[in-house]
Amino acid sequence: MNSELKILFVEDVPGDAELVNYEIKKNKIQFNGKLVSSREDYLATLAEFKPDIIISDFTLPRFTGLEALELRNKLYPELPFILVTGTLNEEIAVECMKAGADDYILKNNLSRLGPAVFNAIKKIRLLEEKRIAENALEESNERYRRLVDQSPDAIAVHYEGRFIFVNPAAVRLFGAPDHEVLLNKPILEIVHPSSREKVIERIKSVSQGIDAPVFEEKFVKFDGTVIDVEVLGIPYPYHGKHASQVIVRDITERKKSEEALKNSELKYRTIFENVQDIYFEHTIDGIILEVSPSIEVVSKGLYKSADVIGKSIEELYYNPEDRSRIKKVLMENGFISDAEVTVRNRDGSKIHTSISSRIFFDVTGNPVKIIGSMRDITARKKAEEAIEHERLLLRTVIDNIPDTIYIKDNQARKLIANLSDTRYIGYESEDMIIGKTDIETIPGEVGKRGFEDDMKVINTGIGVIEKEEDFIDCNGEKKWLLTTKVPFFDKEGKVAGLVGIGHDITRRKKTEDELLKAMFKAEESDRLKTAFLHNISHEIRTPMNAIVGFSALLSEPDTDEESRNSFIETIVQSSNHLLAIISDIVDISNIEANLVKINKKETDIINVVNSVFNQFVPEAKSKSIKLSFENNLPPNLRSIVSDSTKIRQILTNLISNAVKFTDAGDIFLTLCAKDDLLLFCVSDSGIGIPREHHSRIFDRFYQVENPTSKLHQGTGLGLAISRSYVDMLGGEIWFTSAEGVGSTFYFTIPFEPTNEPVLRSDSKYDQLFFSEKKTILVAEDNESNYRLINYYLNEANATIIRASNGLEVLDYFNKGNKADLVLMDIKMPLMDGYTAARKLREMNPNVPIIAQTAYTDEQIDVAGSGFNGFISKPFNKSKFVQLLREVL
Ligand code: ADP
Repeated sequence: MNSELKILFVEDVPGDAELVNYEIKKNKIQFNGKLVSSREDYLATLAEFKPDIIISDFTLPRFTGLEALELRNKLYPELPFILVTGTLNEEIAVECMKAGADDYILKNNLSRLGPAVFNAIKKIRLLEEKRIAENALEESNERYRRLVDQSPDAIAVHYEGRFIFVNPAAVRLFGAPDHEVLLNKPILEIVHPSSREKVIERIKSVSQGIDAPVFEEKFVKFDGTVIDVEVLGIPYPYHGKHASQVIVRDITERKKSEEALKNSELKYRTIFENVQDIYFEHTIDGIILEVSPSIEVVSKGLYKSADVIGKSIEELYYNPEDRSRIKKVLMENGFISDAEVTVRNRDGSKIHTSISSRIFFDVTGNPVKIIGSMRDITARKKAEEAIEHERLLLRTVIDNIPDTIYIKDNQARKLIANLSDTRYIGYESEDMIIGKTDIETIPGEVGKRGFEDDMKVINTGIGVIEKEEDFIDCNGEKKWLLTTKVPFFDKEGKVAGLVGIGHDITRRKKTEDELLKAMFKAEESDRLKTAFLHNISHEIRTPMNAIVGFSALLSEPDTDEESRNSFIETIVQSSNHLLAIISDIVDISNIEANLVKINKKETDIINVVNSVFNQFVPEAKSKSIKLSFENNLPPNLRSIVSDSTKIRQILTNLISNAVKFTDAGDIFLTLCAKDDLLLFCVSDSGIGIPREHHSRIFDRFYQVENPTSKLHQGTGLGLAISRSYVDMLGGEIWFTSAEGVGSTFYFTIPFEPTNEPVLRSDSKYDQLFFSEKKTILVAEDNESNYRLINYYLNEANATIIRASNGLEVLDYFNKGNKADLVLMDIKMPLMDGYTAARKLREMNPNVPIIAQTAYTDEQIDVAGSGFNGFISKPFNKSKFVQLLREVL
């Protein structure tokens, strides 16, 4: 209500209205008044003006106070209504009061109006306060109702063993179908038997008006599940008695967590107390806060937890650097794993440990402490050392084995390779091939084959045992390996890789090869030698027959002069032929025995070629062959340094063949120089060589077998000797030939030109004559040889003394005899030429001694044995004379 009272006056007499106004003002009541006298005005003003009080006259001309009262009752029943009337009538008064008027004032007693208005105001205030209180209560009830309805905790009221109120959370908590069912449920039925006794006690206490503090109980839900609950019971007034209001909270999950936490704590405590590793906690500064009892075990009883708690962890480090290292990592990363640390035991001994620790932070992120574990790895360390030792031992063993040894994984990648393997395939260190396959480390086919073999072993699980395989090593040299590759398996029985061993059998293979070749060669030699013997016996017998036969005829008394001369001619030719055959055999034997040496000296090459050429002129002529020589050498090139004997022999063989295998036609000999090579070329228009024989005609004893060639004499040695000599001189020999057309043989000889004029030493049959008489001692056991020498010296003005062996030579000198020259045969009975020469040198260092031997020149150690020179048999006069001239 505003401070200004709104008063609706219902009055038809203005004077009366004035009086009423006056009376109210007199009572110092502030008001705003409206005056109406009809029903219509009354209703309209009530609605618009909204008065706080109505003061109405009882009697009005067209309206009555009672009608106004009834309308108020109907429309605004709480609005105070005071009747003012001029007539005092008890019945009316009673009727008015009954009708609900708040007061009844007589116009002649208006002094009561003031207090009546005050009462009415009071009533208005009371009514208003009541309304406010009712509203507040309503709001409070609403709030409470909502609180209860929406509370997550179950709220219920029970009285005499049954619920009289349950909120939705309670329905949910007990799993009831709806709250009606729950209301009908006796409360003890939802209490678990284990809690019932306590619950009854608590209900009793609450019913006596005493609170039952929060308590944990077990309830049973409608579906039979047991839940843990926390219950608060408080008395609740109910019909003058105490019902129980309970607040129930489901703490099953919390209980479970608590249980789990308890279990976990128990578990960790058990671990802590029984763990073999040492669990520790220390401050960031290293002060030990906690250590598990296992420290006693690890320290072998020397430390107990209590001994170290409160001390600095640093005291336990054997090497202080370990502590700084670990601290650094911890500070950088917040943790450290498996750091190896040596701990000092109480007696100063070392304990090898592995530490893992972590910084523990508080909720604000500040480091609080370090917690970690320490494992005794002494045994592991020892085992590791033992393994390492063993590994080194094995490594040393495998690295010192000459065989290649390697281990590969199941992808054929190398895991281990010993030194031999690494070196064998051409690498400096094992690291360069580890993790790689053969394809990646060994070039070409060999690597590919190795990889394929490896994969076969890995895929089939079947090893390769002692497989012989060729291999190109890092120097590109072909080698042979005896390879064994065996698979190894993992725990599941799957192939995990392979172990390989390679044994170098190159030497064995070479020996085998050589043996095989030697065997073939021996067989071939045998075959060729048999053929040769057949051939040679024929070749030797033919001239021998002639010599023996015609020599016999010579002694026939009736042989005339002409026949005799013809016989002698045949004998000489046959002898020469025989000599040539024997000479070839000797030459090839010397070549095979590696006894031939090159003897280079200044040579007039044109002279050599001419002399060989001239040798064949008569034979060529007799066969109607045109033999020509073309010298294409530069004019200033004539004297060279080379082995003229060998060149002579090669040329002789080639021209001899040309003449031999040409019946009629041309033989063309040319000589030219190219760079530092002399090129000789012997071309004929003879029978030629069939193509299939081309590859073999340089082989020893090889002759083209055909009806025509059978007619030709030969040993099959000429070309073999020629090729060996050309090789020795550093040149090449080859030919072109077509059957029936002819052949051309070429050979080259490297030469060194010289400006010195060459003495013509090839002059024919130089005669020997000593101006002073010489004494020559000829030591020769063979009669014919002696006679030949004697014959050569026939007209040389020399006294010839013969000794038949070495002893006789020494004897001659021992007797004080002198000689100007000793011609000493090597192979003699009683004392050979070597011994005799050596002994003779001791007594006479000056006398020239010349060795004459059927052995080759290379077999004689000329200077070492005291000889001044040598001559090999057979020798002709020219050769003999030349040597003697040089010596005497
Ligand atoms: P030989 O002549 O003593 O049989 P060679 O070694 O000199 O031995 O020659 C081997 C073979 O090569 C001869 O037997 C002959 O069949 C063939 N031959 C060599 N030179 C000629 C040539 N100029 N013409 C045809 N055949 C030749």
